[in-house]
Amino acid sequence: MSQSEVLSQAFELGFTYTRSTGPVVGRFLTELRARKLVGIKASDGRVIVPPMEYDPDTAEALSEFVEVGQVGEVVSWCWVKEPRSAHPLEQPFAWAMIKLDGADIPMIHCVAAAAESEMATGARVRAVWADEPQGFITDIRCFELADGPAASAVIEQPEAVDEREVITAVEAPIYLNYNFTAGKAPARFLSQLKKGILAGQRCPSCSNVYVPPRGSCAACGVATEQEVELPDKATVESFTIVAIPIPNNPIKPPFVIANLVLDGANISFIHLMSECVNDEVHIGQRVQALWKPESEWGYTMDNIRYFKPLQEPDVPVAMIGKIPVEGWEG
Ligand SMILES: [Zn+2]
Repeated sequence: MSQSEVLSQAFELGFTYTRSTGPVVGRFLTELRARKLVGIKASDGRVIVPPMEYDPDTAEALSEFVEVGQVGEVVSWCWVKEPRSAHPLEQPFAWAMIKLDGADIPMIHCVAAAAESEMATGARVRAVWADEPQGFITDIRCFELADGPAASAVIEQPEAVDEREVITAVEAPIYLNYNFTAGKAPARFLSQLKKGILAGQRCPSCSNVYVPPRGSCAACGVATEQEVELPDKATVESFTIVAIPIPNNPIKPPFVIANLVLDGANISFIHLMSECVNDEVHIGQRVQALWKPESEWGYTMDNIRYFKPLQEPDVPVAMIGKIPVEGWEG
């Protein structure tokens, strides 16, 4: 087998969470939006900021909110020399546990200090508000040293009634960006796929053919070196009808996703089925790939637009995954 190309691609994995806040954190965020900081009184009288729904010692439900100061004391801290893109500040800053005046439990936030040498345990810090608070912890842009020059003008509290709704949910998406490099066997498979060839690999020990190949046989633990060209006819091993729309997916439900075993292969892969009556799709059904025009082929299984039913007899369940490369005669 010839040397594979190294294939690498940037990926973004995202979870677009909307989190419900519950009434207590919702109240905290609603007050933040009005540039106020509130805590909650625990059963022993301590004031907890941010507020907790239940007492940390007795588990009793808590409800007595207390407004606390916007100035506090650094209880502990660590200096971030090289902020990352996800950090709240672009210049070096300190993460600090800050005990606000009137609170008994410190909360974490960032302190914008000019240098690490300016930070100290016991230092007084004050909240710097975002220009347009949204009801999120970042409404406090940062804290700054209270004995230094104010970075922002002190904002007068408007007395007007805030008629916006109480916050009950927050958008909290999480993204993971990474570079995926295909291994030797998947890279070889994808290079062949770009030419319109479905290339599996055969185990020298048990003779099972894997497609897409992983480079080794999971059953025998040996490398799979022999490449096997496979036809684009397959059998439905299992399937599901997707009824829920998937964000950013151009395919509109309901549609069929199936585990398909190519003729000559012994394991299945997942692909889309179309040109079929969804309710009539069944295990053992014979299908064939519908390829995109050759000019659109890339290093992807998307070169196959979908699989569509073939007018061939069904494969008995016991025979699925055991069809020879030559195909199914029925
Ligand atoms: Zn094997």
